[in-house]
Amino acid sequence: MTSYDYDLFTIGAGSGGVRASRVSSAYGAKVAVAEEYRVGGTCVIRGCVPKKLLVYGAHFAEDLQDAKRFGWDVGTPKFDWVTLRDNVMADVDRINKAYTETLENHKVEVILDRAVVKGPHELELASGRTVTAGKILVAPGAWPIVPDVPGAEYGITSNEVFHLDALPRRVVIAGGGYIANEFAGIFHGFGSHVTIVNRSDTILRGYDEQIRDRLLQISMTKGIEFRFNAPFEKIEKLDDGSLKIFMAGCEPIIADCLLFATGRKPKTEGLGLENAGVALDKQGAVIVDEDNRSNVESIYAVGDVTNRVQLTPIAIREGQAFADSVFGKKPTRVDYTNIPSAVFSTPPIAGVGMTEGQARNKLGSIKVYQSDFRPMKNVLAGRNERSLYKMIVDAVTEKVVGLHMIGPDAPEILQAAAVAVKAGLTKQAFDDTVALHPSMAEELVLLR
Ligand code: NDP
Repeated sequence: MTSYDYDLFTIGAGSGGVRASRVSSAYGAKVAVAEEYRVGGTCVIRGCVPKKLLVYGAHFAEDLQDAKRFGWDVGTPKFDWVTLRDNVMADVDRINKAYTETLENHKVEVILDRAVVKGPHELELASGRTVTAGKILVAPGAWPIVPDVPGAEYGITSNEVFHLDALPRRVVIAGGGYIANEFAGIFHGFGSHVTIVNRSDTILRGYDEQIRDRLLQISMTKGIEFRFNAPFEKIEKLDDGSLKIFMAGCEPIIADCLLFATGRKPKTEGLGLENAGVALDKQGAVIVDEDNRSNVESIYAVGDVTNRVQLTPIAIREGQAFADSVFGKKPTRVDYTNIPSAVFSTPPIAGVGMTEGQARNKLGSIKVYQSDFRPMKNVLAGRNERSLYKMIVDAVTEKVVGLHMIGPDAPEILQAAAVAVKAGLTKQAFDDTVALHPSMAEELVLLR
């Protein structure tokens, strides 16, 4: 039998790579993981974790405003970006350390270096060292896409946004997806003037139409501006350091910061996968089968680099399934049905299962229940912001096939409700459950 330096060599210590490496090692494999930046990957270092902390930070703006109606004298609050930024980064450092320790405790060798594939079982590190491995797991994640327009270099992406020296007064956000809507709420909360610019006439493609319309309406009422059907033409830097952003079909905008949130592409460039004959799709994603295996027998891939579902919990499940199947003698496949997801906009959106449009196309006959209400806290606060919950039911089986919500704490509520949808429960099962009063979540069992 051929002997290799490692049983498994993982490229990328993000959510998928860390889980796969740690579990494979626990099954007895000799494992190394190469990471060119920081252990933890996008989610921990420059994604979900710091973003959620900024969302909390920004939300104080509304909480402090509302507090007055609840009898609190909060004076004139002042926000200091540098304090929040540094505290968030300190927390990122803490988690980064915890991830590294977890890997080391599981006897995974952490190599802080860039690895390039040289063949089906061979890799080269930037330091010049060559290593061999029985299996290679490709898990380098994805990277922000920046539109190819003159002056694009003056913009930043979600990689840089957490490190800004100062809070920009005027922010233009390119794109209308997850990152755009989340950072629109964040910057608006901190007091910046925000304009979202999208190339099409919609935000959050894929989410339920009524729910995203509600976010658009609430965002506009707050003072966030939108430009639709406005592809970028060029960006100029002015003498005072600000940016002049030119788009087709509308007047240029002057801003202090341009954030590109225009999607993310698999990070396979320069990874050497062609040396081993690994097939990639048009976006550069590693093409894998249901067992995360590429067309090369010894090379697997998990997470965003496969461009299946770009979500951390999915990368983790794929990493676990890989380890269970390849080193744990427990063949496991990820179930991609009914994946709950959320947009941490202000207010947040959450959904699971089919949207109304998807259900109509797929099932034909459906029932739609909805509750359009003003949460009691908003009523007392004088905040004219309504929540919307929608339940999509298969008219034949009575099973709930979709739940979609916008409103305070929607992701927290949806996570629990997603268990019922995943379990295939009927609308009757929701109706049979006694309401927990007074709560927003009780609307889910009171839909008539
Ligand atoms: P999204 O895919 O969510 O949205 C991309 C947006 O950019 C769309 O509105 C799209 O427009 C627009 N766009 C795409 N290309 C261009 C272009 N060349 N010029 C102008 N506009 C363009 O991407 P994000 O960058 O917001 O997020 C990337 C991924 O990260 C998400 O898909 C998600 O999987 C993940 N993520 C998840 C989060 C969560 O779970 N809460 C949070 C953040 C990210 P159009 O729709 O009109 O084509």
